Amino acid sequence: MRNSLLHSIMKTLNDFNFENKKALIRVDFNVPLNENFEVTDTTRIQSVKPTIIKTLEDGGSCILMSHLGRPKGVQEEFSLSHIVDTVEDVIGVEVKFVSNCIGEEAIQAANNLQAGEILLLENLRFHKEEKEGDVSFAEQLSKLGDIYVNDAFGTAHRAHASTTIIAQFFPQQKCFGYLLAQEIESIQKVMETGEKPVLAILGGAKVSSKITIINNILDKLDHLIIGGGMTFTFVKAQGGNIGDSICEDNKMNLALEILKQAKAKNVQVHLPVDVVATNAFNNDADTQIVDVDKIPKGWQGLDCGPKSIENFHNIVMQSKTILWNGPLGVFEMPNFAKGTITLGNSIAEATKNGAFSLVGGGDSVAAVKQFGFQNKVSYVSTGGGAMLESLEGKTLPGIAAILN
Ligand code: AMP
Repeated sequence: MRNSLLHSIMKTLNDFNFENKKALIRVDFNVPLNENFEVTDTTRIQSVKPTIIKTLEDGGSCILMSHLGRPKGVQEEFSLSHIVDTVEDVIGVEVKFVSNCIGEEAIQAANNLQAGEILLLENLRFHKEEKEGDVSFAEQLSKLGDIYVNDAFGTAHRAHASTTIIAQFFPQQKCFGYLLAQEIESIQKVMETGEKPVLAILGGAKVSSKITIINNILDKLDHLIIGGGMTFTFVKAQGGNIGDSICEDNKMNLALEILKQAKAKNVQVHLPVDVVATNAFNNDADTQIVDVDKIPKGWQGLDCGPKSIENFHNIVMQSKTILWNGPLGVFEMPNFAKGTITLGNSIAEATKNGAFSLVGGGDSVAAVKQFGFQNKVSYVSTGGGAMLESLEGKTLPGIAAILN
């Protein structure tokens, strides 16, 4: 489905008045817990707060459903009861809890819910039917609420009972929450309506995991920066010496094909020209700056070098729409994080100057958070796998179910 069409038929919370209605909201409260079962990162709870507040302020009530971890049946350590206090603190409203997401107890708790109140259901994945996308399990969940709201982008690529199958029981009464709508709009801003020049920066370890994305987005781009471990498959394919750098030999033809296609489509591809090379894969090993195609035997490139950083900065500063997926080096080790940090700074500066920047999918999100860029870019996606599949051009089942 074309994204512009998608946008015009997208029903969001603003299309509904929740007065005296029970909003059944699929959220992603799959949050990290420490050994004392305390929530160590509340981002996922914060990000659905506007959706919850809107339904309560309309005069409705909220039934929140989520999974937590990968339990095998009922396992106390995966109980959502551990997070009740944190949800209360973040939302600022008392949260009731029911220890089964279906059955008599859940129905009672939902029936007793008054306007302005919040009920959190126990972990959906305590029932294997959730992941199986079981229709009768979804139907039982659907009985708890009047309007179904999906605000869990992190699971929108899964056809699970609560993310997708349930929507059929709300033929008209279903919509996207604010978070999911924002995710869809930010992808659309890059893929469809983005102001030119449009730049994608793809880094990370392997070409093989990014190839579908490259094929899908190439038509939309003016510039493509390729960095990280992917670099070396491209450099070796063009005859360069990459020493012991990471390389997928069986993807070299593919790399050449991408370069050919990019040329045909008038996309300028930018690879690092120099790298920080090391003689061992650890932070304290010896390093030297070398040309990307002249890496000595026994050495491997783990970050881009100063000339590359400068080139990339100039391209980022010219761009009006920027997509960033994947780090430019092994940023987990401080001595090889400079390329990724400097790129983050450049994107932050371009954003300040008016560019739209989306960071999504996998380790670039981790890098952005680690180095404190999350408020300096336009949007940081909350869904790793879901964002990757969106960039690959796939229609996510959780999104399609609301549109049907
Ligand atoms: P991805 O999940 O594909 O985005 O890959 C992220 C991983 O790529 C990170 O853990 C980085 O450490 C790794 N990476 C980035 N650059 C390199 C490189 N030059 N050599 C090896 N691994 C790299």
